[in-house]
Amino acid sequence: MCSQSSDRKSGRFVLPGECLGVIEEFIPDSGTFVKDGKICSKVVGHALLDLLNKKVSVYPLVHATHVPKVGSTVVGQVSSVQSQNATVRIFKIGKRKLTGVFNGFLHVSDGHIRFVDSMFDICKPGDIVRANVISEMNRAYHLSTRDKDLGVVYAFCSRCGYTLEPRGYNMRCQRCGNIERRKIAADYGNGVL
Ligand SMILES: [Zn+2]
Repeated sequence: MCSQSSDRKSGRFVLPGECLGVIEEFIPDSGTFVKDGKICSKVVGHALLDLLNKKVSVYPLVHATHVPKVGSTVVGQVSSVQSQNATVRIFKIGKRKLTGVFNGFLHVSDGHIRFVDSMFDICKPGDIVRANVISEMNRAYHLSTRDKDLGVVYAFCSRCGYTLEPRGYNMRCQRCGNIERRKIAADYGNGVL
């Protein structure tokens, strides 16, 4: 039987032969086959329903372990920062280093448990951050650094590039004395990525 419309969502774990929909509603894409007008999974993986293009595909599990998922803890380098958003180049998921490139997006409201006005008080380009993946759509990973163990794990002075040390609520450059702000992880500077 075909799945109920309630499980018709992307990310659902499917087994070979499991029905994903019918050809009247979807175009079968990679990882699927059609039998008696039904679109079935060819592999063990996660169903991807592209409602915009009416396509259904299955992302094989063997690859799925190498991509960020909702709930994954990731580590990456901040590549760009604007007042409300930052882009993070993810290079690690859990304990696994990545070969591919994934970009994560952090919104200022997900940066800190308290209200923070500017993303520049959360992180700056070049910083290494640990974050949680909170949502995923079309392989765009939305991140949060709100938890105590999340946030910047290495920060670099935006004036001279030297590492910053926490000093009260601020961060201080040990070389030039510059004072900046960050949302740091509880284990900041301990070398744990
Ligand atoms: Zn400095």
